[in-house]
Amino acid sequence: MPSVGDIYDAIDRFAPFSSQDSFDRCGLDVGSREQSVCGILTCLDVTPDIIRQAAQADANLIVCHHPLFFHAIQSISPESVVWKLIQAGISVISTHTPWDICAGGVNDCLASKLRLTNVRAIGSYIRIGDLPSEMSAEALCAYTAKCLNTPILYNGVPALCRTLALVGGAAGGDMPDAYSNGADAYLTGEARYHTFLESQTVRKPLLTAGHFETEHPSIAELTRRLQSAFPDLPIRQAEEKPPIHTILP
Ligand SMILES: [Zn+2]
Repeated sequence: MPSVGDIYDAIDRFAPFSSQDSFDRCGLDVGSREQSVCGILTCLDVTPDIIRQAAQADANLIVCHHPLFFHAIQSISPESVVWKLIQAGISVISTHTPWDICAGGVNDCLASKLRLTNVRAIGSYIRIGDLPSEMSAEALCAYTAKCLNTPILYNGVPALCRTLALVGGAAGGDMPDAYSNGADAYLTGEARYHTFLESQTVRKPLLTAGHFETEHPSIAELTRRLQSAFPDLPIRQAEEKPPIHTILP
């Protein structure tokens, strides 16, 4: 049976924890390297429902994307996931920014979901690639909505788009770099009101498709990589639904 440390080291080979961003807190969030792993559940976020799924699947390690301890915690109540994890004897490894930026990680998975070709990396996070065909910004919105099966927010700037830059998650801050590197449009998970305003000054399309929707496609790939590293270990991807619902008028 592999140990938590063995799983950590396997992840470290394709998404080195030393490459995490300065603000990040990913790695071994709960548990010890010595614990034997009888099964793994993969997910984007650890929630009480995910802990139930792990227990039902007999998994004593959760490999997730978002770290548990991103902000300082003031207390640990019995309702908190940390309490429930420790009670259930479940360890947690979070992959976050190393998985965002590594080859084949979050941003590459998003690029492949959008069927971009000639994909190149700008900095650590941004991917720019060619769209399957030239399309209007509105057609790009419809195309993105279809690829990711989710509603799109759009800044309303018309343009003919051949190339698309993208970053999964909350990456409005990468917009200037995306535009200055020649992308006809920029897609991210979520962006602030003022980022949308700024994009209108630049006169280039800005699209947001949801934090969950732009990152979740990578969890299947994370699961596949873990399974190929540990072929005999039961590894399952959790059932997850986006925590934000859109109600149209
Ligand atoms: Zn994220």
